[in-house]
Amino acid sequence: MNILIINAGSSSIKYSLFENKKLLINGLEERVKDYKKILKKIIKQLAAQNYTIDAIGHRVVHGGKITKSKRITKKLVKQLDKIKELAPLHDIPEINCIKFCLENFKVPQIAIFDTSFHSTIPDYAYTYAIPQKISKKLGIRRYGFHGMSHKYVSLHAANVLKKPLSKLKLITCHLGNGASITAINRGKSIDTSMGFTPLEGLVMGTRSGDLDPAIIPFLQKQKNSIINLNLNKTELFLNKKCGLKGICGMNDMRDIYNSKSKDAKLAIEVFCYRLKKYIGSYMAALNGVDAIIFTGGIGENAEWIREKTLKNMDFFGINLDKKKNKISKAAMQGPLVISKNNSKIKILVVKTNEELMMCEEVISIVSR
Ligand code: ADP
Repeated sequence: MNILIINAGSSSIKYSLFENKKLLINGLEERVKDYKKILKKIIKQLAAQNYTIDAIGHRVVHGGKITKSKRITKKLVKQLDKIKELAPLHDIPEINCIKFCLENFKVPQIAIFDTSFHSTIPDYAYTYAIPQKISKKLGIRRYGFHGMSHKYVSLHAANVLKKPLSKLKLITCHLGNGASITAINRGKSIDTSMGFTPLEGLVMGTRSGDLDPAIIPFLQKQKNSIINLNLNKTELFLNKKCGLKGICGMNDMRDIYNSKSKDAKLAIEVFCYRLKKYIGSYMAALNGVDAIIFTGGIGENAEWIREKTLKNMDFFGINLDKKKNKISKAAMQGPLVISKNNSKIKILVVKTNEELMMCEEVISIVSR
């Protein structure tokens, strides 16, 4: 069975074609404006290489309260149309791609949601302390994102640890341009740092992560040469001009590491300190943890970030093996344990593969 996975971002389309679970071909189209045109091009290219398509998996960032991957029907498309305002940057292009593929393919199509892995988060962790009359009416709660990545690396960590997921407490750190951390109890997400939108939580490339909410109206009231924020500009400001970029002017962790500026140093300190605090709080939420897992472009490659974050946590039984931590990128073929042998809590690096996880979701639904 050939499965096409489509991952439409706010200005890009990533695609992968799998034969069962084996990757055949993948590609990335950037600076996409006309999603239909680019999809047509991709499909034409695949056909020219004689690839057939038996099923399609679509990534949908925000699934609202939908708890599982779902077969796409007209009814589901209507439901998605209703919740797209929750994550307009992603969900609108994704829904456009879904509509296009529904019109052009008569094969099973599955929607896979970034949020659904987090649907197991209990009410005391997903509820914001605002009037419930408002939050319930508007669907304001923690949803969480990066679900496919947190799920994928937790499954692989269980393999490495040779224990069933049902017996493990894990903390997974997905550190890419966007970053989130999840507490996983026996295979179920019980808390995660991204919230109602992907803006909450860790310091990210260009997103602020946690802030005192009073900062926002304070900024909106300023009208001067430093800042002039109206309602529309505020969203853009918090998503694109803050985070590492806000602190030091750069958002690529490699550039920040290579820079000698004081602000770059501070950006790394703030990033690691926020992450450390979350790890501590999730150890409390889980009442202990068996393993901490790093993934995403930064989590997989930036050993200095792992070292700085986990420094001085030996009190908790977290002991990083500095030598193992300095693994080269070439060694990153499979998951690696980078804690000392006697470390009570294991530390792992697992290369994420959201597309493969999505492919597995499609296979499991189509073959039911
Ligand atoms: P996205 O969230 O867009 O999928 P990635 O998971 O690819 O992003 O992560 C991008 C981040 O990973 C960037 O900040 C980049 O600097 C960082 N990164 C990638 N490779 C390395 C590396 N070798 N060392 C340090 N950071 C890296």
